[in-house]
Amino acid sequence: MNRKKRIVIALGGNALGNTLPEQMAAVKTTARAIVDLIEEGCEVVVAHGNGPQVGMINNAMISLTHEDAAQPNTPLSVCVAMSQAYIGYDLQNALREELLNRDIPDMPVATMITQIRVDENDPAFSSPSKPIGKFMSEDEAAEVARKYDYVMKEDAGRGYRRVVASPKPAEIIEIGTIRTMVEAGNLVIACGGGGIPVVRRGNHLKGASAVIDKDFASCLLAKELDADSLIILTAVEKVAVNFGKPDEQWLDALSVEQAKQLITEGHFAPGSMLPKVEAAVDFAASGAGRTAIITQLEKSREAIQGKTGTVFHA
Ligand code: ADP
Ligand code: MG
Repeated sequence: MNRKKRIVIALGGNALGNTLPEQMAAVKTTARAIVDLIEEGCEVVVAHGNGPQVGMINNAMISLTHEDAAQPNTPLSVCVAMSQAYIGYDLQNALREELLNRDIPDMPVATMITQIRVDENDPAFSSPSKPIGKFMSEDEAAEVARKYDYVMKEDAGRGYRRVVASPKPAEIIEIGTIRTMVEAGNLVIACGGGGIPVVRRGNHLKGASAVIDKDFASCLLAKELDADSLIILTAVEKVAVNFGKPDEQWLDALSVEQAKQLITEGHFAPGSMLPKVEAAVDFAASGAGRTAIITQLEKSREAIQGKTGTVFHA
């Protein structure tokens, strides 16, 4: 019997928008792109980021401490959990509707609250790098830094933002449940916002103050589910060398070796394209026949048909 092609999709910022109304609108387009892949005969598992949402939730929870002195500040791990539930709700709702609109009535959609273990000795904890939340003035930044022990950094002349650690994902705690749900034919949303970062303390999993990169979390999910393909859907149709320069060149396919070479030559911006290319390379190198594709959200169907996107192969 022919097994369906199993793919893990990683959704980026443009799939979810920056505000509540934007997200509500964006998930409709996103749901179409995902159901396109289901119509192409793929078994799909969805993972997603949470940059704007976790920042928004974090700021809302800070405001709560101003309104009510009895409320302590909310740990970042809890903010990530809230973002998983909120994004999962919108995606789950839009996917269900899109499946029904296309006469696919028998595919339940479910979001799995996912914890991901990180190594507490991960060097990322001593050099926070991921900006979250709103821009602040120098005075505001100094105040939250003092009050909540936040690390604040000036961001390209635009003001100050909180930066948090972004450790590598080591273990998906709920992987067994995710696998069972996928194998039972459910459309599963998992590892939202890169997963809730936790560290192990004996039997206790303690929330960590961090945000895991969703590109790396999706890569680990794809490996653990023995997926055939990892598809990273973002704002560009292909990956480029000399991006944004006059000699920019869009790439159709890259071997793991070629991609590693381009990484060392510095073609991919850290914090945006670099983690995607690193995740794509990691997945393509992890097993026979595994490929990764980086493409634009709206091009998912064409990409799976081999007509566009940048494909990473062994
Ligand atoms: P997401 O929210 O999907 O993770 P990001 O904005 O973090 O998306 O990263 C995608 C962006 O990376 C693209 O929209 C593009 O502006 C930028 N980028 C940086 N380097 C490259 C490159 N070499 N090729 C293509 N895009 C690049
Ligand atoms: Mg990103």
